[in-house]
Amino acid sequence: MVSATFCAATSFGGIMDSLTQIVLGAAVGEAVLGAKEGRKAALWGAILGTVPDLDVLVGFFVSPVTQLAVHRSASHSLVMAVWAAPIVGLLLKKLYRKGKAKRINWMWMTFLVFATHISIDLCTV
Ligand SMILES: [Zn+2]
Repeated sequence: MVSATFCAATSFGGIMDSLTQIVLGAAVGEAVLGAKEGRKAALWGAILGTVPDLDVLVGFFVSPVTQLAVHRSASHSLVMAVWAAPIVGLLLKKLYRKGKAKRINWMWMTFLVFATHISIDLCTV
């Protein structure tokens, strides 16, 4: 009974964590690039807001202990945010060549979405 309640609570918490990250990413995307790119900025903010948590997919291929060690490690580091933001920003600028936003704008949006994701996860260990 207790473990079932605990699992239900943690599952709900996982969904709420993901929903929070999606909404926060969309808000950051809108705040940073909404004036230049409109809804695309919010959409990509929402998508990028969930990317760091995709490390849970590793759990399908490794032991639970390894999964615990991997989740919220490299994908939730500022090093990853600094490294990935230019690459993702470049790809998004190539995708929206005719958009008003410059490559640096897409890079900053990406970095800020990742940085806010990491900051929020610091509160929900
Ligand atoms: Zn996370």
